[in-house]
Formats: sequence, structure tokens, C-alpha cells
Amino acid sequence: MKTAAAKKPKKAARGKPARRIEAQTRTKFVYSFDEIRLAERAAGSWDGVRGLLGGKGANLGEMTKLKMPVPPGFVVTTEACKAFLAAGDRFPRGMWEQALSAVAALERATRKKFGDPDNPLLVSCRSGAKFSMPGMMDTVLNIGLNDAVAEALVRLTGDERFVFDAYRRLIQMYATVVLDVPAKPFEALLEQHRSRRGVWNDADLPAEDLRAITEGFKQIVMERAHRPFPMDAVEQLRLATMAVFRSWNGKRAYDYRKAAGISHDLGTAVNVVAMVFGNLGADSGTGVATTRNVTTGENALEGDFLMNAQGEDVVAGTRKTLPIAELARLMPGVDKELKRIARTLEKHYREVQDIEFTVERGKLWMLQTRDAKRTAQAAIRLAVDLAKEKLISREEAVLRVKPEHVDYFLHPQLDPAARNAASDKGALIASGLNVSPGAAIGQIVFDADTAEHWAQRLEKKVILVRAETRPDDVHGMLAAQGVVTSRGGRTSHAALVARQFGIPTVVGVVALEIDADRRQMRTGSGKVLKEGDWLTIDGGTGEVFAGEIATVVPDVTDPYLVELLSWADRFRRLGIWTNADYPRDAERARKFGAEGIGLCRTEHMFFEAERLPVVRSMILARSAEERAGELAKLLPMQRADFLGLFRAMDGLPVTIRLIDPPLHEFLPNHDELQRTITELETRLKLNDGDAAALEAELAAKRKVLDSVDALREQNPMLGLRGVRLGIHMPELVRMQMRAIIEAACACAKKGVKLKPKIMIPLAATSNELKVQRALLEDEAQKVIREQGVKVPYQFGTMIEVPRAALIADHIAEYAEFFSFGTNDLTQTTFGISRDDAETGFLSEYLQKGILERNPFATIDQAGVGKLMEIGVKLGRQRRKGLEIGICGEHGGDPASIAFCHRTGLDYVSCSPFRVPVARLAAAHAALEEKKARR
Ligand code: ADP
Ligand code: MG
Ligand code: MG
Repeated sequence: MKTAAAKKPKKAARGKPARRIEAQTRTKFVYSFDEIRLAERAAGSWDGVRGLLGGKGANLGEMTKLKMPVPPGFVVTTEACKAFLAAGDRFPRGMWEQALSAVAALERATRKKFGDPDNPLLVSCRSGAKFSMPGMMDTVLNIGLNDAVAEALVRLTGDERFVFDAYRRLIQMYATVVLDVPAKPFEALLEQHRSRRGVWNDADLPAEDLRAITEGFKQIVMERAHRPFPMDAVEQLRLATMAVFRSWNGKRAYDYRKAAGISHDLGTAVNVVAMVFGNLGADSGTGVATTRNVTTGENALEGDFLMNAQGEDVVAGTRKTLPIAELARLMPGVDKELKRIARTLEKHYREVQDIEFTVERGKLWMLQTRDAKRTAQAAIRLAVDLAKEKLISREEAVLRVKPEHVDYFLHPQLDPAARNAASDKGALIASGLNVSPGAAIGQIVFDADTAEHWAQRLEKKVILVRAETRPDDVHGMLAAQGVVTSRGGRTSHAALVARQFGIPTVVGVVALEIDADRRQMRTGSGKVLKEGDWLTIDGGTGEVFAGEIATVVPDVTDPYLVELLSWADRFRRLGIWTNADYPRDAERARKFGAEGIGLCRTEHMFFEAERLPVVRSMILARSAEERAGELAKLLPMQRADFLGLFRAMDGLPVTIRLIDPPLHEFLPNHDELQRTITELETRLKLNDGDAAALEAELAAKRKVLDSVDALREQNPMLGLRGVRLGIHMPELVRMQMRAIIEAACACAKKGVKLKPKIMIPLAATSNELKVQRALLEDEAQKVIREQGVKVPYQFGTMIEVPRAALIADHIAEYAEFFSFGTNDLTQTTFGISRDDAETGFLSEYLQKGILERNPFATIDQAGVGKLMEIGVKLGRQRRKGLEIGICGEHGGDPASIAFCHRTGLDYVSCSPFRVPVARLAAAHAALEEKKARR
């Protein structure tokens, strides 16, 4: 079975061992494009071939094997690069000789000669690592040109402009790449000529200027590098090869790898490819395309091309490109062939491709192919379409879609049309790592305090831009719409915090030069943006735009998403439930595919404006009667809440957790009360206001403060809460139980079948459950007798302290279901409080590698996970088929979902917005397990 992870073209070698003897006597450092089978044999797998030849080289070889029109060429392996760098910039033994004989083979294949003015062969020398690192390493085109060859080519082609354009490009690229000469003096000379001629484009310069520029460039090389531009073609190739190898360790490439988490010791291959020319007149051209639309997923070739131009012109944006659809009109034959090749490539790679091509005098040449990058929206449609076209199975389609692709549909996004328009106008100023999805628009600020001030006091929308963030920047990040950093990778502080709080964020934008002191930043192209300027970022793609771009909120009714998730549903075993406190949340969750409520936090309803005063009076009541009076006021409100939930879920399971937090959370803040009291006392002393009224208010406040003091705890997280509170204040949970059963009876009378699940929080002993359950049963039976309807119900508990997991068999005596409250379970297992950790030492722990991940985001499998395993095992030992779920935030985290699947849980319950992601992640978990068993 072929999978997304190991996308292997159909006929790659089956892992035959390398030829040991050959390897010992003579390492093969050079593979010509038609030797891909040898590379497969040496490397064992397609992944190995990509490692050895780099992605570009492996695919050029693969296309050659498929008999596609690829200019002849060869690859110098990444092994050679590694040996070169390890030896202090020296080619390994035998490598250069192998390269030279490959050049000789190229000469035979093209019937041209390298450096020969009569019939010159020109080549490109292109970098290409295992993983694509766009624009991070170097490529030199037109190698083999020199004075004599140039003149000869003028005679051969009759096109002086073309020849000297190619020649001056070679010198410029060669000087900057090989000799480290800065680009500036070259640009300056070009600019001189442009302004003298009054033209905008180099392409509009006449031949004589290009000839003069070529001479000028040679002089710049002499002045800056103190040596002449080499006239010897072989020498050019040798030095260019070295430069490409060295560019692996260039700062740009290094920073990129660090940020993208690519290993530094893979090395790059060098691809030497016979040049083909797209700038030889009206029947020539060059272009880039994807085999389908990678923005929308539509099945149509998508891309840009230019007539009479060389490859880099398309990307450089100096000339207005034509949409690829125009090709059909301008070069119908080429168009037909290109489409045929595109289809073949898709079939072969079973994946949408991103291609570069050039047409030389009506003949199509393929210069590159790779798996195309895509938007989340396209990723889903492409997976569905490829499965329907039977290029991949439905299982693979589901596996190819990543949780973050689904996540995309749940955040505001850039309006694709507006985004493309902005990009066409040059607003795309940089890109980095997409670490936290969603679009964000705001004014640039360069420090956290300004971010907070602007956002909160001035009510501005801001984007915080920093070189990197630290714990004391968190308040600014929270105040910002989005965050951009120029340094840092996927596990940097900024990335961790951003994901935690769902702040759209792009990190590792190495092209941005941030000068926080001068309150400005400079982009790679030299554009300067100041504090207060508008910025738009796309945390899903990692793109950063100057200015404001319109956004849209996509939604889960996208037909491709709906279809893909319906496939996912068929593969998963875990149920997907939701945490919902209000009917509107429950409705949304059901729309997203939730199959039950795993957690309703009843206390959330207590915080509502009209209820909080009643709740407070209830807590502060001095007598049982007083309290009963307040509870009687709360009862109809709670009943209505539950009725709403039951109706919204229409017979699906609804789990209601009885009151959980410590009571002080409902009371006014101690310190604030104290301040008010001091204020009142001062006013009384200063005779500021009516004395009697002040006295009365003071007395009332002091009474509240007394109660708050009485309820104050040293460690509220470990204090009077959960089942302990229910035991301490039985009237309160009785009221809740009554509300639940009354609501259930009302539903039952209307014919809605349901079985409420009553969940008792934070039990640590079986006796707590025994006592609490007896009390609740009593109330339930009372209600049922009163109502004259029999409704079934279930009691269960949350497992959220280690002791409960360790004695789960005893707990299961009284609990008919378990739900892991992994947030508290993580706190109590680690003995750390989440709030203190996340605003404090946690990021330090993560950066120092003491913790590999935030255990509040992804379940700590070794510790918390082990307790869960014990809980599952013991619980089901005592009660066969015991229903077990999880209702912590972890329930929406893909890695934690996979763990829950493996641990044999029945369902995960997550926030409504995570439900679609959880459906996919649960399917992934099941499919990965199936794969592992094969
Ligand atoms: P990048 O990875 O930056 O795309 P490439 O190595 O692909 O660098 O080359 C840069 C540009 O030069 C591309 O447009 C490519 O198509 C073009 N190019 C590379 N080699 C040749 C060649 N032999 N003939 C014509 N164009 C080429
Ligand atoms: Mg390329
Ligand atoms: Mg809890």
C-alpha cells in the first residue's frame, strides 16, 4: 500500500542492496539523468534517491526515465557535497574526473562542445537539496560563455541582444554567487543604462548597451574580486559547483533550515543541465505552472509564462507574464504536449506537480517538477478529486489532508482574490514559517508594551513585529491580532505561545531586517515599513503583506471538506463529542459533526449577569432557609439550560458535570473589595458624601469581605471544589440534579428519548462517589415520583487526580462511565499549576528542552498517559465495557487523539470548533494503526 508519507513513484527500485564492491573501489559521485536506475539501486528507495540526488535531480532523472523532454544533464550527489564541506571545501577524490566525463557525455548527447566557439555547449549549474528550499541556495545559468563563444553565438543565432544578455547575466550571477561580489555595483551600472535610454526594463536595452554592460561587469569583477572573470568554461563550471556546494552553509540557507526544522547535514546536490533558450525569438518562451490550481484545487493547469524570455524573468516579475491558458492560442502544439506531460506526471507521482518549462524554437523542454505546495482549501479538494480519479485511495486521501488544513476552515482567511491582487501589486514582502493559522491585519508595532497600549487604550488593531519573543512579550502578543518574528523556528517562544492562544503568527521571516530602536523594518527588496504602517499576515501560509487585505470566513459546508470528513468518519473508531455549555454551542458542534456532549460545565451558566447576584447571595447565605430561597431562584434557570441542551442534541448523549470550581470564583475579588473599603473609609473621614449611606455601604462590603475571607484558600486549585464542594454543600448539587431530571422528564413527555449522564468531578476516593451518588439518586427518584415519568440516567466521574486512576477499579464500583479531565490530571500529575506555568516557567522549560512539548497542549504520554492506561484497564476490569472518554482540551489535539485511540477510549470530547479536526485526527489514528499492523 502506498502512502502519503512515502510517496513513491510507481516503479522505484525495490531496495536492492548497493553494489558493495563498486562502492568500495570507486564511489559514484556523479549520475547522469539517464542513470536514475543506478541511483535507485544505490539508494534503495525513492526517499533514498531524493536524499542522494536532491529533489530536483531525482525528479529530472525520473522525467528522463519517463521519456519526457528533459535537456541532458547530470547530478553531482549530496554525498560529494558533504565530503566537500567536511574536507574544508575540497572535492572528494575522483569526483571531478567523474564530472568531466559526464560533461563529455553531455557533449556527445548534444553534439556540442563545452567552450568551443564553433559549436558551444552552455550549461546551468543548479542547487537542489532533498527538501525544497525555494530561493535559499544558488544557481548559475549560461556557464560556458566567454568572449569568443559570445561572438560565435552572435554569428550562429544572429541575435546579439540575446547573446550579450545571457553573457552579462552569467557574469553577474557568477560574480555574486562564486566571487561574493555584492550585487549593488552591477545594479548601478544597469540603472545607468536604463536611465540613459529612458527605459524601465533591462529587456528594453539594445544590444550595444548589453555589450557595453558586459564589458563593465567584467571590470567590476576585476576591481572587486581582484581577478578576471574566467574565460575557461571548465574552470567556470568547477568554481560554480564549489559555490553551489558552499551555498548549503550560506547564512540564508542555514537560517531557513533552522527555522524549518530541516537537518543541517543533508547537503545539496549540483545539477548540471544543458542550457535551452526561451529567449530565441517569437517561437520561444518559458514558464512555470502547477498541474492543477493550487489555490482552489480546480482541475486546470495554472501558471504564468513569457514569450521570448529566460526562466528567471517569470519569477523576477520585471515583465508582465501571460496566464498559461494563453499558451493554447500562441503555441497550440506545445500546449497539448505540456498538458499531456502534466497528466503523466500526476499519474506517476500520484500528486499534483509544480513544473518549470522552456520552449526553444517551438520545442518544449522540462526543467523541473516537484510536488506542488497548496492552500488548505486546495489540499482538501485535490485529495478528494485524486481519490475520485482513482489515482489514490480514499484512505490515502484522508491521510493526505492534515489537521491544519481542516483548521483553516475555522479561522478568518484572506480573500483569495484580494490576496492575489495584492500579491500582483508587489505587496507580498516576505514569507516565513506558518506556525499558527488565520489571517491577521493590523498596524505594525515593535514592542509588547506599545502593542498593549495601542490595542487597549487606543483600540487599534496591531501586529507585533519582533526579532524574537520572550516571556515578557506575552502581554503584547495577546493584545495583538497577529505576530511576526524574523528569527526562530516552529518551536520558538513565539510559535508556542501563538499556537497556545490561537494568535495568527509567522516566525522565521529571515528576509525582514527589524530595527526596533528606529521603529522600522526593511524588507528583502529594500522597502521600509514604519511603526503604524498596516501589515497583513497569513499564519496559514506564512506570508507577510504590506497593507490591508480583505478577509473572509470560510465554513465547514465546503462540499469537498464535507465529503472528505464523511470518508474520515468511516475510518475512525473514536466517537467525537463536544464540550458545550450552551445550546448554541451544542448546535454548532452538531453541525460540525459532534456525536454527543462530553462536558457541560454547569458553573458557566452561573456567571451570567442576571444570575451572578443570585449565586452570590446563595453562597453568602447565613442560614439554610436563606440559601434554599436563592437555590429556588436558580432552579428554573438551570432547568431551562438543560432543556435547551437536550433539545439541541435530540437524543444524543449529554454529559453534565456538577459544579466544579471553588466558590470564591463567584465572589468579588478580595483585593478589590479591600480597596473599595479603604476608599469608603477615607470618604467617611473626609465627610465626602452622606455619612449614613457611606456607613451602610461600608457595612455591606465588610460583610462580603468577611465571607470572601472565610472562603479564601491557600491553594484553591487543590481546595474546596469538585465533589468535595458537592459533599460540603449538598443543597447546591441537589438543585442541579433536580434541574437535570426535571428537564429530562419534560423532554420525555414530548417524546425525546434521552439518558442524561451526570458527571461528578474530581473524585479521589470511591467513598466520595458513594456518598455523593446516594444523595443525587435520592433527589432523582424524588423528581421522577413527582413527575410520574421514568427517565433513565447514568452516573459517572471525571478521572483527574492520579489517585482516581490508580484505584479506578474501586471508582468504577460507583461510576458507570469515566471521563479523563486531562487538564487537572496533568496539573496534579506534574504538581504544577497551568496558569502559573504558562505565564511563567513553561516556555523556559520548552526552550531548554527540559520538556519536549507543552503537556497542557499534548498529553504527556509517559506520565499522564500511563495513569490513563491504568485507569482504563482497572476501570474495565471492574465494569466490563465501561464507557471512557476524555474531555480536557487535549481532546482536540491530534497527537493526543491518536493516543486516546491507542489507549482504547470510546470518544474524545473537544470544543465545537475542534470537532472537524478531531474527526480527521481520529481517522488518521485508525489508519496509521492499520498501516502499522500490515
Ligand atoms: P530555483 O530553485 O531558484 O528555481 P533553478 O535551478 O530551478 O533555481 O533555476 C533557476 C531558473 O533557471 C529557473 O527558471 C529554471 O527553469 C532556469 N533554468 C535552470 N536551468 C536551465 C537550463 N539548463 N536551461 C534553461 N533554463 C534553465
Ligand atoms: Mg526552480
Ligand atoms: Mg477539572
